[in-house]
Amino acid sequence: MSKAIGYAALDPSTPLAPYSFSRRAVGANDVQIDILYCGVCHSDLHTARNEWNNTLYPSVPGHEIVGRVTAVGSAVSRFKVGDIAGVGCLVDSCRNCPSCGEGLEQYCENGFVGTYNGPAFGGGENTLGGYSDIIVVDEKFVLRVSHTDNLAAVAPLLCAGITTYSPLRQWKVGPGQKVGVVGLGGLGHMAVKIANAMGAKVVLFTTSPDKKEDALRLGASEVVVSKNQDEMAAHANSFDFILNTVAAPHNLDAFLNLLKRDATMTLVGAPASPHPSPNVFGLIFKRRRIAGSLIGGIAETQEMLDFCAEHGIVADIEMIRMQDINDAYERMLRSDVKYRFVIDMATLKAA
Ligand code: NAP
Ligand code: ZN
Ligand code: ZN
Repeated sequence: MSKAIGYAALDPSTPLAPYSFSRRAVGANDVQIDILYCGVCHSDLHTARNEWNNTLYPSVPGHEIVGRVTAVGSAVSRFKVGDIAGVGCLVDSCRNCPSCGEGLEQYCENGFVGTYNGPAFGGGENTLGGYSDIIVVDEKFVLRVSHTDNLAAVAPLLCAGITTYSPLRQWKVGPGQKVGVVGLGGLGHMAVKIANAMGAKVVLFTTSPDKKEDALRLGASEVVVSKNQDEMAAHANSFDFILNTVAAPHNLDAFLNLLKRDATMTLVGAPASPHPSPNVFGLIFKRRRIAGSLIGGIAETQEMLDFCAEHGIVADIEMIRMQDINDAYERMLRSDVKYRFVIDMATLKAA
């Protein structure tokens, strides 16, 4: 066992605060990582505040982890001490079910183990995430990171990157297509960059008119303020695919009506309370579809990291100190994130 320090929520309403705990001893298949940077996902906030009614406390969030390998078990073959490595949203799964067999560990039929808030197989305590100095993870769930020159900006790829890459691939986004991205936050800004790199024409929908210039710079060819009904109406029946990343309940019909016949809007945003029910006529008359998508499997996460390295894609980040996490959450709730907070873990170690 190794001593670890981190920041934890002890209940839904108290701010995150320093917390000491231990990591398991490095087993034969394990990699121990000294965490350098950890991105701040809106799911961290939903979890710390028990907005999904499933939080196990104490809760140490954080699943966008990059760091340096400091120890490896005797059976580890893919990593050595000194390597840069990444850990995303998953640290284990059953490895036996059909989904695991297909490399879709996030859909493990026996329940995957999340990097945080996951009950460990065989009982025991809940997993504790990346707002901490070290982590120990089975090498099967550790990712190789090749673009190491801007490491802090790579961290958000481990959740925001894969959560947007996976549905863009699943729904075969590519050249000649018109693709909508709803919400310019952590996930949304990655979706704009990745869909653009896949060759699609990207239209960004936002509730924040002041994000317009940024969206164009990030790769959108057009920006629509979703509250403006005339701007919305101009895009009726024209999208091949829409990826909706919004973290709050809202009217889905406004976007469904923009899809072509047979096209899909995939929801990745996971608000604490349901969206108003969509109007079925908007679906029936054009055979439109609403779908969902959960992060991505380990193989696809590696594919995404390699794709981003090849295309020079990283997140646009604002670096924060660990001590500023509670302020960062408040700003996230005001949609004031440009476009991902990343914690410099040196600030935790120094304190
Ligand atoms: P984020 O950085 O806070 O971005 C969310 C964006 O949604 C905001 O920046 C804002 O963009 C827009 N928005 C917020 N409130 C809104 C409202 N009331 N109406 C319309 N738009 C609103 O959050 P994130 O980290 O990208 O995460 C987004 C959601 O995805 C969260 O619910 C998170 O838990 C979920 N998530 C899901 C998965 C998955 O596997 N499916 C993985 C990771 C995260 P504008 O200012 O541009 O309008
Ligand atoms: Zn996340
Ligand atoms: Zn499984």
